[in-house]
Amino acid sequence: MHNVFTGHRLAEYPDFLTIASLAGKRTYLSVGSWEPLATGACGGPLFAAPDRVTFTSFGVDCERGDEAATVDAERELVGGDYDVAFVYLGDVDETGHEVGVGVEYRAAVERADGRVGRLVGALRARGTEEAEVWTVIVVTDHGHVDEGGHGGDSEVERTAWIAACGPGIGAGVEMGVLRHVDVAAHVYEAVGLAGELGDMPLEGKAFAVVEC
Ligand SMILES: [Zn+2]
Repeated sequence: MHNVFTGHRLAEYPDFLTIASLAGKRTYLSVGSWEPLATGACGGPLFAAPDRVTFTSFGVDCERGDEAATVDAERELVGGDYDVAFVYLGDVDETGHEVGVGVEYRAAVERADGRVGRLVGALRARGTEEAEVWTVIVVTDHGHVDEGGHGGDSEVERTAWIAACGPGIGAGVEMGVLRHVDVAAHVYEAVGLAGELGDMPLEGKAFAVVEC
């Protein structure tokens, strides 16, 4: 397993921001560390053509990268005209690689939690004339082993979690077992694109709507 994306088929199966852009939505990507998300490094970019890309490279200094990505996103999410956005935070993963689970890892999780809180705060601070309803999805792309690292196919490395809020997603309600492919499907549903994807094959399905 590796993080080199050479030979990918993203031209045929683009990322969700690019699909949303092509369908007329305004999209935004903020990345401060893991370069292939936003640039041609290692066979990237994974995100082909969002309307706005902010990439501030701090290499593997994910802590500084996350702060830069969050600062940019706070400004854009408060004042920008966007329908869909993706902000990458890499500090927790990088800390897990370096030191495994422990005090430093918990501190990294808390830093990320604070940044997610700032992003949600930015959405709440939008001064738009029309009422807006946002769906927020926080997702990790994998787990990792306690001593640090991941990339194998053990259950703990292949299991991740999703936290979300928005229409139909009840506070404190278990959403059952979701798959990563469901994230994009839910995004399309949330921005009203679910029925407009043409021939685009979609493996996932939107999160189950919970009656509240
Ligand atoms: Zn990693």
